[in-house]
Amino acid sequence: MRYSRMFIPTVKEVPADAEIISHRLMIRAGLMRKLASGTYTYLPLGWRSLLKVISIVREEMNKAGAQEILMPAVQPIELWQKTGRSVDYGETMARFTDRHNRVNVLAPTAEEVVTSIAANEINSYKQLPLNIYQISFKFRDEFRPRFGVLRSREFIMKDSYSFHPDNESLDETYRIMYDTYCRIFTRCGLEYVTVEAESGEMGGSGSHQFTVPCESGEDTIIYTEDGSYAANLEKAAVDPLPKEKADAKIPPIQEVHTPNIGSIEAVCAFLKTKPRDMIKTLIYAAGDDIVAAVVRGDHDLNPEKFTQVLGGRAAELADEPAIEKVTGAKVGFAGPMGIADKVSKIIIDHAVAAMAVGVTGANKTDYHVRNVVPGRDFPLKGENIIVADIRNAVEGDTHNGKKLLFRRGIEVGQVFKLGTKYSKKLAAKFLDENGSEKPCVMGCYGIGINRIIASAIEISHDKDGIIWPITIAPFEVLVTSVNQDDKQVAQVAENIYTQLLDKGIDVLLDDRALRGGVKFKDADLIGIPVRVTVGKKAVAEGKVEIKLRRESQSQKVPIEQATSKTIDLVNSLKEQLIP
Ligand code: ATP
Ligand code: MG
Repeated sequence: MRYSRMFIPTVKEVPADAEIISHRLMIRAGLMRKLASGTYTYLPLGWRSLLKVISIVREEMNKAGAQEILMPAVQPIELWQKTGRSVDYGETMARFTDRHNRVNVLAPTAEEVVTSIAANEINSYKQLPLNIYQISFKFRDEFRPRFGVLRSREFIMKDSYSFHPDNESLDETYRIMYDTYCRIFTRCGLEYVTVEAESGEMGGSGSHQFTVPCESGEDTIIYTEDGSYAANLEKAAVDPLPKEKADAKIPPIQEVHTPNIGSIEAVCAFLKTKPRDMIKTLIYAAGDDIVAAVVRGDHDLNPEKFTQVLGGRAAELADEPAIEKVTGAKVGFAGPMGIADKVSKIIIDHAVAAMAVGVTGANKTDYHVRNVVPGRDFPLKGENIIVADIRNAVEGDTHNGKKLLFRRGIEVGQVFKLGTKYSKKLAAKFLDENGSEKPCVMGCYGIGINRIIASAIEISHDKDGIIWPITIAPFEVLVTSVNQDDKQVAQVAENIYTQLLDKGIDVLLDDRALRGGVKFKDADLIGIPVRVTVGKKAVAEGKVEIKLRRESQSQKVPIEQATSKTIDLVNSLKEQLIP
């Protein structure tokens, strides 16, 4: 490709919403442009990189025995109603009514469709296991699209789904997919960690997340220093805290008037206490059941852990009337005392059970109570009372006695053991060797193609621009003719360019009639990993300069060796990324 003919609109200024470096560089280097909130057009350089990621993913998936298919992006809502996810996905799933009054969804993922295919086509154990995948657009109406393509509304996902006769077969494919993901991310030049994850609304029994550690990531990775444990925030299990000892005998509970003071911060300011000495009671609705969650004032309830304790049922904060019915008070004054017979379950976090004394809502509008002793003033045991780990891990927590450390990261992929959640609901059954009918056991495996590009840039750039891993760079080599007006220089650059093309190298020739300085700035910005610079002075000595984008030193080589030296460099960069 010739730069003079190529559509690479680099710019100096970026829009104000481009908060993180990958977003800014993707705009500045002319990789993409925003169309609307969370939707982007990929321009030639950006699309070339995406295609390279896609072909790595495709190669590795095929090698792992998965078969590529393509499912529709527009799907009938009825399928989603059958699994209950038309409700669970909430507003993140976009819907529209067509001219025949049928309700459709824009696929945020494809478990329902793929399971319905299996329901129709799989009858016998002889057809199992089966692993199928697609690489296609997904739409999620994210509440807060941001960070460019890291959290967009429309994105490209590789999603695969496996079907098995039993758990052993699922375990085998799960391991193969896990290894395949490791190979894919290594080949893409990403440094990543794998962590245990919660399967969330996917359902199922096990999951791992592949995360690229970096400050701008929205995920939190929690791990022990010795590497024996790593999980994401949703999953990270913490040890119960030791029971606190009271300094002195605690007097009986005392009601205090806290007019219109409902929030933790306001109560703390008013009563001169700290959030860690408060007991927070949250009233949730899990289907028709009302349940209470009790956590320390400085802790956050972890919805995934809470859902697990509820046996996998998704819960949402109850509405005002429901809360008032349980507490007999306005919102903001709930407490764990005397509500056991008004809710179907009370789940109390370990850290609350360990408190010596606390302040909590009085279940009476405009009142709180002090000197509340867990176990004395509200029960920690009972038929519908469970003490469990239902909060987010925080600094200072331990896991199996080891200190937990925190780090931010970007989730690029996740693998799940789904079990039979979807196959049961959508009747994806098969006949086993003995002729008895069983639901297929399923796994599913996702990769965010766009996020790979953005996270590669997040972890590999400098103040001047992108430093691409060679495997996913829009071009492998950039040949720059510094003095395009000089016939000899232009000819040498042209020759090296054609020779590289002949050898199958993906090369861009900067043949623009511009000053060298401008060309070098663009070269740094777009970040092509290997650079051949052809300038008047060196050519007069019979030489050209070769340089890696990531290094500042260049080397002069004789013109006739330029092509072979460049190919050697390309190959050595590629070798560094072989898993
Ligand atoms: P997140 O927790 O970040 O919202 P998720 O866990 O809901 O992601 P999955 O359902 O596991 O995502 O989807 C598989 C992959 O698709 C993710 O690992 C991620 O790389 C990518 N992905 C998900 N949502 C988005 C998005 N809004 N924009 C870009 N990529 C996304
Ligand atoms: Mg995920």
